[in-house]
Amino acid sequence: MPWPSETQRDTEVFGLIDKERERQNTGLQLIASENFTSPDVMEATGSVLTNKYAEGYPGKRYYGGNAVVDDIEALAIERVKKLFGAEHANVQPHSGASANMAVYLGLIKPGDTVLGLSLDHGGHLTHGSPVNASGILYNFQSFRVGATDERLDFDQIRELAIKHKPKMIVAGTTSYPRRLEPQPFRAIADEVGALMMFDIAHIAGLVAGGAHPNPVPYADVVTFTTHKTLRGPRGGCILTTAAHAAAIDKAVFPGSQGGPLEHAVAAKAVAFHEAMQPSFKDYAQQIVKNASALAEALSKQGFRLVSGGTDTHMMVVDLQPFDAELTGKESQLILDEAGITLNKNNIPNDPRSPFVTSGVRIGTPSVTTQGMKEPEMALIAEYIATTLRNRTNPAAVAEVRAKVAALCAKFPVYPKRA
Ligand SMILES: *Cc1c(COP(=O)(O)O)cnc(C)c1O
Repeated sequence: MPWPSETQRDTEVFGLIDKERERQNTGLQLIASENFTSPDVMEATGSVLTNKYAEGYPGKRYYGGNAVVDDIEALAIERVKKLFGAEHANVQPHSGASANMAVYLGLIKPGDTVLGLSLDHGGHLTHGSPVNASGILYNFQSFRVGATDERLDFDQIRELAIKHKPKMIVAGTTSYPRRLEPQPFRAIADEVGALMMFDIAHIAGLVAGGAHPNPVPYADVVTFTTHKTLRGPRGGCILTTAAHAAAIDKAVFPGSQGGPLEHAVAAKAVAFHEAMQPSFKDYAQQIVKNASALAEALSKQGFRLVSGGTDTHMMVVDLQPFDAELTGKESQLILDEAGITLNKNNIPNDPRSPFVTSGVRIGTPSVTTQGMKEPEMALIAEYIATTLRNRTNPAAVAEVRAKVAALCAKFPVYPKRA
């Protein structure tokens, strides 16, 4: 039978995908949780594996025909264990949020106390936000960054751990620009008899590339997304010690998911292979160098960097010293018009709501994949400052838009289709 597309191609959706490719090719992508995947990762994602049902695990499937899929998933597991030095891996979580929920389901009980970083100080929704299942089902208590240095305060975390006696301590952040040392979390977890989970969703690529400490030797369980700095397909992954392997696998399937997305698992395997190449180390180092250069250039333009700078792929920018009237929301909107895509973000103790904010979050994984280096970071800081200074002047914003397009044309990501 002919495919319907042979006579009636869906020009609407494919037209929109072309538009999105154009947007990604011609603008600056500075969202800290995004990246550009390789053509190989996309090829695996778009492969025939999307057709296969494979409930279960390699060698223990509920359906037939899984010999090839078993080899693919086993390869993904073997690679990711080697990449991070882990005893056990589950590569099936559909996303970072699914990975985290599976860990809670597998290792603690509803109502148990968990200690994590407050969302408005850089934590993630799945670390106990009251609107998320984590906060609805478990008794999350939060630590916050220090009032003056805006960094994690291990004295405070220890005090809260002693007070609340959590079953689990969740380390890991979504908008925190500094290194996260795993040892102090381990020491506190041991002192109060808690499990330690480390969510490296944002920094997995930095860890894999040796640009950030690896928490795997210290944590009971490590979760991450494969689509952020690690530069793979959208998805999640869980690493554990052998002691928790069975509980984690059961919590992913049948506990919280049905059939795995084996096309995504194959693409994860491809991404793990790419992250094992020596060039990925250079990539991870350059992400951090670019973030430092961009942070420094932004502070020269009059912005304040939360915690004074960055040691990672991201920075949180306080807009108030640059312009007290300017909100994160307005900045995000006007910068989008200049072809600069980033997101509004609360600064610690922000006087404005999460929908308005006094800050923006900026990351360098995507522009680094494109091949941009320190000189381009100085240009980006200039384009951001110029746009925000001239936000009521459409001609000035259009001028920046043209400069952004010219810069991106020098660093093409996905060449246009013929
Ligand atoms: C992005 C992120 C997640 C969630 O990942 P999704 O794939 O969007 O569900 C979880 N934890 C942290 C720390 C994150 O930054």
